[in-house]
Amino acid sequence: MKTKIKIGRTIPFGYKIGKNSKILYPISTELEILKQTLIQIKSGKLSLRQASKEIQIKTKRNLSHPALLKMTNKKFPNWQIQVKKENLRIRDEKNRIKKLKILRIKEEREKKRLNKLSSQNRINKKCIICLKIKLLRYFPKLKTNRVRYCEDCYKLILKKSKRIKKKCSQCKKVKNLNGFSGSNGLIAYRQNHCRKCNIKRNLEWKKQNRDKINTYNKRYRMENPELIKKQTRRYYLKNREKLLEKKFEYNKKNKDKIRKKRKIYWNKIKNNKELYQKHLIKSRIYSKNSRLKDLEKARSDDKKYYYKNREKVIQRVMNWKKNNMDKVLKSRRRYNLRRNEVEGNKKSLW
Ligand SMILES: [Zn+2]
Ligand SMILES: [Zn+2]
Repeated sequence: MKTKIKIGRTIPFGYKIGKNSKILYPISTELEILKQTLIQIKSGKLSLRQASKEIQIKTKRNLSHPALLKMTNKKFPNWQIQVKKENLRIRDEKNRIKKLKILRIKEEREKKRLNKLSSQNRINKKCIICLKIKLLRYFPKLKTNRVRYCEDCYKLILKKSKRIKKKCSQCKKVKNLNGFSGSNGLIAYRQNHCRKCNIKRNLEWKKQNRDKINTYNKRYRMENPELIKKQTRRYYLKNREKLLEKKFEYNKKNKDKIRKKRKIYWNKIKNNKELYQKHLIKSRIYSKNSRLKDLEKARSDDKKYYYKNREKVIQRVMNWKKNNMDKVLKSRRRYNLRRNEVEGNKKSLW
């Protein structure tokens, strides 16, 4: 490397001052880096500002981008025009690829559309209800396929109009859409069997699959006991009078049956202490509740019974008293005590 004579005040990049302050000595590493960066700038890989930043990082010396521009102009005249051309070329290439991609996507879409159309490529269609031949666009599209009836007939079906009639495939009768089940006219139209035939079929199925239904119902009852309790309660409250009437009639008709049942039950309980106790508790609670429901009626009934069977009642009470003397004494004592207390209170007032 050659030495240089110092001309200006600043020290140029890649040189340092020796002992003699007029001579500049070259630094080989810095000059090598500068050479490489200049080549990179010329080829368009680095911009001027980027290059100046890189040089600062590598060598820890400042070199501004205008200075770099001067240097490259000196070394490679007309370099900027070539870089511009190169950039333009790259941009054009990118655009060309983009356009090609878009074109390919369009072509694929068109192909798909054509394939779809090819299956229903016709223009006309015959409506199966009014039997008129109409353009394809007058047939409504449900989900993906066009239906077999025209737009006007579609509206009539939705209304369950009387003009639309259908033949049941079971009984072969021509009926109005109201004769077919299904809340919506469309559902009614799609069904093959009329309502009566459907009911018949269902009943037959139920007869044949009795076990299946029973097991299902049993499982459902086991899984949702509270829900069924609620439902039965609601049903009872709604149809109470009807149910009671039914029960009354049944009891009237099957008096002997009920009596037999009771007798069997009584024989079962009679000699079993535990069962008998249970029965007693149950019956007491039941009678108490029924009395509480209509107290006045119960009292009047008691009175009537008493006047009718007076001697019987008195005899029964006497017998009970003889057998439970201690209870009688207890109650008497309690009664006396209470009376004394009341009288004492009266005296204290005076
Ligand atoms: Zn039609
Ligand atoms: Zn039918």
